[in-house]
Amino acid sequence: MTSVATQPRVLDGVAIAAEIKAEVAHQVASARSAGYTPGLAVVLVGEVPASQIYVRSKVKTCAELGIYSEMHTPAATATTEELLELVAALNAREEIDGILIQLPLPPHVDTARLLEAVDPRKDVDGFHPVNAGRLLSGFPAEQVLAPCTPAGILEVLRRSGIAIAGERAVVLGRSNIVGKPVAAMLINDSATVTVCHSKTRGLAELTREADILVAAIGRPGFVTAEMVRPGATIIDVGINRITTLEEVQRFFPGDAERLAGFEKRGSTIVGDVDPAAFAVSGAYTPVPGGVGALTIAMLMSNTVKAARMRRG
Ligand code: NAP
Repeated sequence: MTSVATQPRVLDGVAIAAEIKAEVAHQVASARSAGYTPGLAVVLVGEVPASQIYVRSKVKTCAELGIYSEMHTPAATATTEELLELVAALNAREEIDGILIQLPLPPHVDTARLLEAVDPRKDVDGFHPVNAGRLLSGFPAEQVLAPCTPAGILEVLRRSGIAIAGERAVVLGRSNIVGKPVAAMLINDSATVTVCHSKTRGLAELTREADILVAAIGRPGFVTAEMVRPGATIIDVGINRITTLEEVQRFFPGDAERLAGFEKRGSTIVGDVDPAAFAVSGAYTPVPGGVGALTIAMLMSNTVKAARMRRG
């Protein structure tokens, strides 16, 4: 059962990510003492500016934690066959423990085929059907490479002392990247889970039942205060760029800092939850500074885990 808190607790994703990265740096040091350095290969096809930013910060974090990394940047015209060859070469290399194919790929590339070609033992994004199957089958966490964003969500809940077992969790969104795997993880941790999507009827009635509400739909400020049970924990996964003054004023009324940032950059980020709904909650992840901060930390953690698992 949830209790109604007077002041909602902010679940600080940045602090939790820093804690996880410090642990990973320790694990890397132990691996090095044992004679190997965990290694990550990142494949970035073409020149998508947002992907370039993500990939750069992944490579930078590897360096900070002592993980070896290398970048492969095939042209946007690379064929599926050429990319399959690259993946096969990375699969075969002993010093590469993790292979990350930055999505989205150009439309002519067969994404599913490429993701399935990654050796499941090196699948640090956790997108391979073998890892998805293991997660669903409830394999022990040490034997699964789970997708990074959902794994980060579970870390936030556990490290913040939020009860999961026996709680009602409602997940908005059923993507393979967030919704489905986070639902599987919550089931594995003994929550009672409802998954909602665009065809769900009576959505607000369902979300109001949630002790833990995970919003991962990609719709700015979709979840309103009326959809939240007082005292619930809200995990806001959405990262939505808003570009009009009207939207900024609607979601952040009276927030001078947001307004200044918006005026400087011409946009700002809002999650899938209307910030006004956070006031009803018992605890929530802010946007930015919540779940988003965890994804790279979990990628690093998966890389070290993959290195350990492959060496038995
Ligand atoms: P996605 O693949 O587009 O899936 C969106 C899901 O939301 C779908 O299952 C869709 O239902 C559902 N949905 C859409 N509109 C809805 C509505 N009005 N009511 C109920 N359900 C609705 O998105 P995603 O990749 O899971 O990402 C979701 C959000 O999380 C995005 O804002 C994304 O930027 C963010 N994200 C953040 C991180 C991070 O923090 N690092 C990582 C990944 C994603 P249908 O299946 O019926 O179409």
